[in-house]
Amino acid sequence: MGMGYTLVCKKCGYSRHLFLGCGMMYNEVLREKTEEARQGQHGERLRTLFERYPNGCIDAMNNLYYCPDCRTVACESSLDFFKPKDPARDAEDDFFGPDMDEFELVEKHQHLCPGCGNPMREVMRLTENEPVNCPECGGAMESGHPLLWD
Ligand SMILES: [Zn+2]
Ligand SMILES: [Zn+2]
Repeated sequence: MGMGYTLVCKKCGYSRHLFLGCGMMYNEVLREKTEEARQGQHGERLRTLFERYPNGCIDAMNNLYYCPDCRTVACESSLDFFKPKDPARDAEDDFFGPDMDEFELVEKHQHLCPGCGNPMREVMRLTENEPVNCPECGGAMESGHPLLWD
C-alpha cells in the first residue's frame, strides 16, 4: 500500500503531488530495479554489492528526497541494499516479495540530485529543523492531506 502526498507551499501556493511507499505492482518494480541495479544502471556501488551478495536485495519503495542546495524534490526508489541474515537463503523463493525481517541493511543508497548532482537528503517527515523549501519561492512546504494510493 502506498500513500499519495501533496506538498504545498504556504507562501506562493506551489504544489507537488508525490507517491510514496509502494503500489500493487511492487514486485514488478522490485524485479525491474533489481535487474537494473545488477547491470550497474544505478551505479557501480550497487553492482558491486550484488556481486558480493548475489542473494541480496534492494528496497524499491518510493521515498522522498530533497536537495537543500537547489531545492529539487524527487520521489525515487530507495535502493538501499540488504543482505539475508541467513547466507544460504535463496531469493528466488520470494514470489510475493522478500520478507524484510530476514534481511539486514548493508548500505543506504546515496541519491544524487538530478538538478545539481549534490547528495540528496531523505525526508522522513516535514519538520522545522529539516524543512523542505519550495522550488519556486523558497518558502516552507507543508504536507496536504495524505491519500491512499492503490
Ligand atoms: Zn513557494
Ligand atoms: Zn540539487
